[in-house]
Amino acid sequence: MENQELTVRTPDPDEQFEALIQKIKDSGHNMDLGRIRAAYEMARVAHSGQLRRDGSPYVTHCIAAADISVDIGLDEDSIIAALLHDVIEDTNLTHEDIARQFGTAVADIVEGVTKLTRVQYTSKEEEQAENLRKMLLAMAKDIRVILIKIADRLHNMRTMAYQSPEKQRAKSLETMEIYAPIAHRLGMQRAKWELEDLALQYLDPSGYKEITDNLNARMPELEAFMDNMKAKIQARLDAEGEQATIYCRIKHVYSIYRKMYAQKLDINGIFDLCAFRVIVDSIPDCYNVLGIIHDMFKPVPGRFKDYISTPKPNMYQSVHTTVIGSEGIPFEVQIRTWEMHYTAEYGVAAHWKYKMGSSANTALKEGDEDRFAWVRRLLESQQESDAVDFFHNMKVDMFADDVFVFSPKGDVINLPAGATPIDFAYSIHSDIGNHMVGAKVNGRIVTYDYALQNGDIVEIRTSKSAPGPSRDWLNVAKSGSARTKIKQWYKKERREENIQRGRSMLEEELKHNGLTLDDVMDEAVCGPILKRFSFSCFDDLLAAVGYGGITATRAANRLRDEAKNLKPERKTALDKVSEAAERRETQAAKKEGKAVHGILVAGLSNCLVKFSRCCTPVPGDDIMGFITRGQGVSIHRRDCVNCQQLLSQPENAGRWVQVSWASKIPDTYVTTILISAKNRSGLVMDIATVLNAINAKVRSLNARETGISMALASVTVEVKDASELKYIMSRLASVPGVGSITRNGM
Ligand code: MN
Repeated sequence: MENQELTVRTPDPDEQFEALIQKIKDSGHNMDLGRIRAAYEMARVAHSGQLRRDGSPYVTHCIAAADISVDIGLDEDSIIAALLHDVIEDTNLTHEDIARQFGTAVADIVEGVTKLTRVQYTSKEEEQAENLRKMLLAMAKDIRVILIKIADRLHNMRTMAYQSPEKQRAKSLETMEIYAPIAHRLGMQRAKWELEDLALQYLDPSGYKEITDNLNARMPELEAFMDNMKAKIQARLDAEGEQATIYCRIKHVYSIYRKMYAQKLDINGIFDLCAFRVIVDSIPDCYNVLGIIHDMFKPVPGRFKDYISTPKPNMYQSVHTTVIGSEGIPFEVQIRTWEMHYTAEYGVAAHWKYKMGSSANTALKEGDEDRFAWVRRLLESQQESDAVDFFHNMKVDMFADDVFVFSPKGDVINLPAGATPIDFAYSIHSDIGNHMVGAKVNGRIVTYDYALQNGDIVEIRTSKSAPGPSRDWLNVAKSGSARTKIKQWYKKERREENIQRGRSMLEEELKHNGLTLDDVMDEAVCGPILKRFSFSCFDDLLAAVGYGGITATRAANRLRDEAKNLKPERKTALDKVSEAAERRETQAAKKEGKAVHGILVAGLSNCLVKFSRCCTPVPGDDIMGFITRGQGVSIHRRDCVNCQQLLSQPENAGRWVQVSWASKIPDTYVTTILISAKNRSGLVMDIATVLNAINAKVRSLNARETGISMALASVTVEVKDASELKYIMSRLASVPGVGSITRNGM
């Protein structure tokens, strides 16, 4: 029945618009009404045929939003933009169309409102809601965008009855969590209250009804009480010679509701339902009135708040006190100046309202610019001296230092302005950053140095085989936390290098003792040693050897002793080996001439040594020396095919010479690894990724097709010794599709 009544009501847009024009005229604002009419015409034509849920032409919503904008006190461009606020989103008109007729300022505002409309809202925990509010404010850029959005939302909430229950709930939740707090932040008390009460109606209908029913039932009593108190206060202030205007009201439903909820009271337990406002001309008057009120009534301890000396962050100023009235009923009194009053009611828009000479706020005069410091502080406009230009240049730069973006899941991530996908990735998790291989913003691939914009949806592509952050990222990242995490990665990666280095040093040292790493990595052998040195794992020991925290000799000796003690039956075998090794050592030492390139040639010192290209030996390899004609001794691996072939030729028998690696090896050695793999796109990239991840010193990397769907990649690297090479080869084996990995010369 009620719905039927609602649907037959179809407001006539033209009448509604004329009422708006009249309201503008009445407001005393000097506006170009022809321009506003033209905007209405554009909106009417663009939205023609579109209906609201209640059956009225869509344009009635646009007029209503403009009407609220007038109430809020917005300027001419804002009212035009309010009339056009839905045309980009819902009609064929574009930014250019609007700009052509009304200028870019209006078009920019409409576009700004459209962007806010497109932000997807899903209910989040409190922190997320706060970030979303900041994001909207930051996105708005021009304060008028957010003010029109609030007007838009206010009208939609007023007409929410026609929507489906799901939409009512969703919009009400959004209003409660996002728009009412924004209105509050901008100091727009009146809009905030109305938004909250409208939203509560849908979010907790029975709670809302309980309060309104109770208030309605007690209304005669409450009104009598307020009239009585107001008359008493007025009489006393008159007697004291205080010029004051007194308003009183029942507190808004949501504030009562919140109090009930917070203090677990039912409505009868809440006494101060009434609020009085005393508005005076000056700040000294405020404190005079406060003294008078406290003289008349007994103040409730702990309820006095001085927001004049300490304004709220949204620049709200007033003194509040709660006193006990007749019959023991407490009530709140707020005392403020007219300027404070308009600021509280209309927030940032109050400035405009004053300046246009609206008749109600006579207390304000021209030349009161310095009294608007709060607006300046809030908006940091450089144009403070010219009131008419004020709005045109207002930018919301409260969050100029921040940028707010969405994760693919819809979480709002707050980053410093200028932040890049790298910052985003590390803010989610350092693993995401370390494994990042690409970034998408709003579905499009972007470079790592792309500066994120408010409202961007950012997606990070990761890969397990990602090479990790590059040092360049330190320059690209804007957030300290991202840079810290990148540096941490490098510290950790250096650990990998240290472990690698330690491994080959220890291996070499163990070899002199006739042992291998495998022999000592047995928990039974290394366990006591690790404990003694307070290492938590074998890698810690290797890392310590690598960076020189413990010498390889010392570590090897301890491990050897432990191995000997542990296995008596192996002792003899080990002893034999070590004795043999020692013998070799002494023999080598006796013979030792001067090593060239880390090679000792038996019986010769300082002879010309070169490493054969066919098998590129590295320290640790079993090697042979072949005396070339005029080019000194060529060093081959014993398992090299060429070497084998030369060995099989009897005529060359006399040209072989014994060679060995010197104990101290100063150089690195270049050698080549051959990788046979399934041919696929990205193969070389993946190989490079692994090499980079382990910090291999790569001289060259290339690949060629070797048959149907097979490829042979050749990697030339610089290594310290065979164990490092072995390590590199083992890591390369993890690349998908890799078949065999061999050294050259095989
Ligand atoms: Mn709208």
